[in-house]
Amino acid sequence: MSDETPICSAKGCRAAAVWVLAWNNPKVHTPERRKTWLACEEHREHLSQFLGVRGFLKDVVAFDEWRAAEGA
Ligand SMILES: [Zn+2]
Repeated sequence: MSDETPICSAKGCRAAAVWVLAWNNPKVHTPERRKTWLACEEHREHLSQFLGVRGFLKDVVAFDEWRAAEGA
């Protein structure tokens, strides 16, 4: 549990995260495992594509929804 403002995962970006990208690399993760990247409005597309072309992207969820779903 953390009070830190979540920051976008894009390289060099310090913007607040608005989106959560849930992904899984089948070569290294079990199928139900979810890694997450955070994205600001500007980088959501870029990061989604990066994961998407590799077939890793599972879900894109608004950060607030994601946090609510996690029960935080
Ligand atoms: Zn960003």
